[in-house]
Amino acid sequence: MRGKTFIISGPSGVGKSTVLQALMQRRDLYFSVSATTRTPRPGEVDGVHYHFVDTAAFQEMIDADALLEYAQYVGNYYGTPKRYVDEAMDAGRDVILDIEVQGAHQVCGKRPETVRIFIAPPSWAELERRLASRGTDSPEKIAQRLQRAREEVACAADYDYFVINDCVETAAAELDAIICAEHCRPADRMALLQND
Ligand code: ADP
Ligand code: 5GP
Repeated sequence: MRGKTFIISGPSGVGKSTVLQALMQRRDLYFSVSATTRTPRPGEVDGVHYHFVDTAAFQEMIDADALLEYAQYVGNYYGTPKRYVDEAMDAGRDVILDIEVQGAHQVCGKRPETVRIFIAPPSWAELERRLASRGTDSPEKIAQRLQRAREEVACAADYDYFVINDCVETAAAELDAIICAEHCRPADRMALLQND
C-alpha cells in the first residue's frame, strides 16, 4: 500500500526536530529533506538536515517545478523537493514534512489527503527559553521567530491534530498514535481486506 504524508508544523524552536528524532526511534518514516537558502547552523549537515543552496539554485528548482511547495520564512526560502516524497510513498513508506504553515496550505491544496499536525509549546515563555537555549539565533532573529510563532499558532485550527510538546517522549507517543490511527481509516483497511 502507498505511504501517507504527514505535515508537522509549529514555531521554530518548539522542538519539532527533537520530537521527530524520538518518533523515528519508534517507527520507520521517511523524513523529507528540504532545500533552503538559510545558512547552516553549527552541526547541521548538507543533505541530512537540509539541502543548503543559494537563491539562484532555489529559483532553478522553482522553474523546473521540482518543489511540492515552497515559502519564505524570516528572510529565507524553504521548499520540499517533490521527487523523493513521491518515491518514498510509492515504496510504501510514510513521509514526514517538517514545514511551516504557508507550505502546509499549498500541499493540502494539491493533496487534500495529507494529514496536518501542529506542534505547540506549553507556553510562550518556554518557547522563548528553548529558542535562546538552542544558541543558534541572534536576539533579533529570536524576536522575529517569536513574532512569527504567534501568527503560526493562529493558523493551528486548520490542522487535523494539535500536539503540545511539554515532554518529548509524550509528544512522540502522541504523534505515533496519530499515525497509527490514520492507518486504521476504513478506506485503507477495507482495501487490505479485499486484497486478501
Ligand atoms: P525546532 O526543530 O522546532 O526548531 P528543536 O528540536 O531544534 O526545535 O528544539 C529547540 C530547543 O528546544 C533545543 O535546544 C531542544 O533541545 C529543546 N527542546 C525540544 N523539546 C523540548 C522539551 N520537550 N523540553 C525541553 N526542551 C526541549
Ligand atoms: P529553521 O530555520 O528553524 O530550520 O526552519 C524555519 C521554519 O521553516 C520551520 O517552521 C520549518 O518547519 C520550516 N521549513 C523547513 N523546511 C521547509 C520547507 O521545505 N518548506 C516550508 N514551507 N517550510 C519549511
